[in-house]
Amino acid sequence: MKLARTGIIITAALAAAASISACPDVAAEVRLPRGHLRECAEFYGFRAPRASGKYVTLENEFATMTFQVGSRKLLFNGALIWMHGELMEERRNGFSIQPEDVSCILDPLLRADNALCNEGFRKVVLDPGHGGRDEGAASKGGTQEKKIVLRIASAAEKMLEAAGVSVQMTRADDTTLSLADRSNIARKAKADLFVSIHLNSAGDPSVNGIETYVLTASGCAGTTSSRTDRRMYAGNRNDAANTVLGYYVHKGLMLNANSADRGIKRARFQVLRDAPCPAVLIECGFLSNDRQEAKLLDPSYADKIAEGLTRGILIYLERVRRAHSILDRAAR
Ligand SMILES: [Zn+2]
Repeated sequence: MKLARTGIIITAALAAAASISACPDVAAEVRLPRGHLRECAEFYGFRAPRASGKYVTLENEFATMTFQVGSRKLLFNGALIWMHGELMEERRNGFSIQPEDVSCILDPLLRADNALCNEGFRKVVLDPGHGGRDEGAASKGGTQEKKIVLRIASAAEKMLEAAGVSVQMTRADDTTLSLADRSNIARKAKADLFVSIHLNSAGDPSVNGIETYVLTASGCAGTTSSRTDRRMYAGNRNDAANTVLGYYVHKGLMLNANSADRGIKRARFQVLRDAPCPAVLIECGFLSNDRQEAKLLDPSYADKIAEGLTRGILIYLERVRRAHSILDRAAR
């Protein structure tokens, strides 16, 4: 990664990031809207919802959110985010989303200072998935997920360290690790954020693209499952920061990877459930897709993914620092 170039990109991205946060009043106790879009628009300072066909847009000078009636898809400043529930239309109340999508998605992104003011910004743990006896996904030609994700993680480790960030890897070689080992390493390292790095596989060889997973909110179903679960896992303590981390990491990946955008999704993967800090799991491409496999085998493409991941992490860390400085100012 050319640091000078990255510096420019980060500055531009930070300017955009700063503009997302509409409310610097981090100390205020507020009652969030329940989910009616009209109420959300008023609370977060957007113009009234504008409907066009099945699309409904909320817009202000900083952000544009586009919802679709009957769909979980939300486009937030161009990033595809899968909500926990669909946008509903009721005759009396107009358009509404689930309360969890206000508290776990809209609020953290629109009041990021509030979501991040208690988070840390010093230690990053990178978790290359699988390893040792566990190969992970494999292509028809025998390309192993465990090898490529280690290459991506090692490249990101170097880039983050070059930017002055302290990084710990859950594995730096072909070691077998359990899922519990990975969360324990993060806990012992006092990680401030955790990124698990994986590759996908699907029965249909045409399926391709990149997706980022964030822990599902309590009481909701994940993006690809209809099963709800009322338990609060350790990772649910960080619901708000998880979303902000997922947003920046996914945007970083999509800016760099020239790949189909499968969006920011929700799942209850064990490493997300057990994470002691804000955490995401990224799926950097499908080994079951020939073209994506060929790209992933090219070390310069792996570097591009690592650069996107690094960019997302650096912007997230900068946002946390900013939230702290705003809190300090408010306390004076
Ligand atoms: Zn995997």
